[in-house]
This record gives sequence, C-alpha cells and structure tokens, in this order.
Amino acid sequence: MAAQDECIFCKIVAGELPGEIVDSDDRTVAFMDVNPATPGHALVVPRAHAADLMAISDEDFEACTLAARRLARRIDEALAPDGFNILNSCGPAAWQTVFHFHLHVVPRYEDDPLKLPWIPGAGEQSEIASIAERIRGEG
Ligand code: 5GP
Ligand code: ZN
Repeated sequence: MAAQDECIFCKIVAGELPGEIVDSDDRTVAFMDVNPATPGHALVVPRAHAADLMAISDEDFEACTLAARRLARRIDEALAPDGFNILNSCGPAAWQTVFHFHLHVVPRYEDDPLKLPWIPGAGEQSEIASIAERIRGEG
C-alpha cells in the first residue's frame, strides 16, 4: 500500500520526519521509540503502510519478525540487557496508538521499573479450555 499522507511512521520511513534509524532492509525500517519504555526501546515497521496486524501482508509480517530478532541481537550486543519483550498492539483496545503496524523491541533489565498493564494471575482452567475449543473451531 502507498504511504499514507498523515501517517507519522510513513513519514519517518520516507525521511520526511526525523527518526533515529537503527536498521533497515528492503521491506523494513527500525528506529528508536521517542518515548522509550526502557533504554534501547525500538520499533520495527514495514516500509509499506499497513494499519495493523490484520492488514499487514504475510511477506512484510515475516520480514518485520525477522528484523525484530536481528535488532534484538544487535541491541543485545550493544547494551547487554537481561532480556527482551517483543510486543505488538492491534487496535485501540489493545493500546495501539499509531496505526502503521509496528513491533516493539523492548530490552529488559533485571532492575527496570517497567510494568506492562496486566498482572498475571491463575486462570480458570475450564474457561481456558472452552476458549481453546472455540479458537480451534470446535465450540
Ligand atoms: P503503540 O501504542 O501504537 O503500540 O506504539 C506506538 C509507539 O510509537 C509508542 O511507543 C510511541 O512512543 C511511539 N511514537 C509515537 N510517535 C512517535 C514518533 O513521532 N517517533 C517515534 N520514533 N516514535 C513515536
Ligand atoms: Zn504508515
């Protein structure tokens, strides 16, 4: 899909807005997040505009996934974090705020204060099983 006029990530890809670009290839560009959740937080985006996980092509999704791991390895060498979260938000209900697909590559540090906005707790096993059935098309 062509660049979208008002899309900030299309503008960063096109060089029309500043961005701290840290990696790129034929299909993807990676740049630092302006509001880093932790030091080294970067974003991988497809060059071609796609609003979200539902819209992105298989080829670009695959390229972004590989680029995210390549970037994580690069950050690992550069910053030696203790771990990573690779995150995607799809839709406002899932906290998506920029509607050009992106993967967050978030280096994690043992003592970092980042708390993702959910608190893991024991699930209801029967509910989990019934949802799994529905996902498998059995429900
Ligand atoms: P989302 O909330 O859609 O999952 O993530 C959007 C991310 O884009 C946020 O982490 C936000 O800090 C980042 N962001 C928003 N505007 C800009 C910008 O103009 N430049 C860069 N580099 N990052 C941005
Ligand atoms: Zn875009």
